[in-house]
Amino acid sequence: MSVLGASQSADDVRTAAIAANLDDARAAIAAAARDAGRDPAEITLVAVTKTWPAQDVTRLFGLGVRDFGENKAQELTQKVNDCNLPADAATPIRWHFVGQLQRNKAKLVAPHVAMVHSVDRAKLITALDTAMAAVDRESLRCLIQINLDEQRVPGRAGVLPAEAAALADQVAAADHLEIAGVMGVAPHTDSLDDTKRAFDRLWRASQQIADQHPAATVISAGMSGDFAPAIAAGATHVRLGAVLLGERRIGEVTSEPGGGFPPRPVQCKSRE
Ligand SMILES: *Cc1c(COP(=O)(O)O)cnc(C)c1O
Repeated sequence: MSVLGASQSADDVRTAAIAANLDDARAAIAAAARDAGRDPAEITLVAVTKTWPAQDVTRLFGLGVRDFGENKAQELTQKVNDCNLPADAATPIRWHFVGQLQRNKAKLVAPHVAMVHSVDRAKLITALDTAMAAVDRESLRCLIQINLDEQRVPGRAGVLPAEAAALADQVAAADHLEIAGVMGVAPHTDSLDDTKRAFDRLWRASQQIADQHPAATVISAGMSGDFAPAIAAGATHVRLGAVLLGERRIGEVTSEPGGGFPPRPVQCKSRE
C-alpha cells in the first residue's frame, strides 16, 4: 500500500511527488547559495515544463512557482492555453523562452513571454521587436545566449563572448526590448572543473555586458545536473526540469490529460 493511502488519486500522487521534488530543489538551491556566501532570495527557480502536460504547470503554480520555461514556440502557446490557473492569484505567471527560436516563431511567443533567454542573432532581435510592437506589449526582457563550449561545436546554440556586446547593444536600442543579461548551457561533461570554467566564462561575459548596460544583471545558468556550480558562479536564474518533474522520455505526449507521469519521482541529485 502506498504511504499516501489507497484512496489517493493519481493526480494527488503526482502533485505530492512534485511537491517533494520542489522542496528538495529549493533546499539544494538555498544550500548552494549559502555555500557561495549568497542570499538564496537572489536566485529564481525557473521550472522547465517542456514535454510535461499543462496540468504540471497548474500543480507547480499551486505550490508557489511563478516562473516557467519552455523551449518550443507551439508547445508554449498550447500550454499557456491549456493550463488552468486561478484568476485571483496575487502574482501572475511568468513564461520564459529557453530554446532556439526561429524568426518566424517570434510572433507566437511575443504575446506570452516575460523573458527570452536564447537571443543569439541580429535578425531574431529585429523579429522579436516587430512582434512585440504588433501585440502592443511594452517590453520583453532578453538574455544573450553565450556559447560556453571550450571549442566551437557545430550546431550548438549561443554566440561567442566576443560577439555578445554588439547583440546586447542592439537589444538595448530596440523600442520594445530590454537587455536583461546572459544565459548559458554548460557542456555535457563529468568534469566539475570544466563545468566551473564554463560558468566562469559566462560570468565574465555578463560583467562585460553589465559594464555598458548596468540593468543587465540576470545570469541564467544551471540545469538539474549542474545548478550548484552555476550558483557558485553567480547564477540568478536556474532552469530546472528533470529534478522537479522526472526524466523526460523520448516522444513524450505533452498535453494528454494526466499523461506524462515519470516512472518514479527523481531524486535531487545535484549536490555531490
Ligand atoms: C531542458 C532545458 C533545461 C532543463 O533541463 P533539466 O536537465 O531537465 O533540468 C534547462 N535549460 C534549457 C535551455 C533546456 O532546454
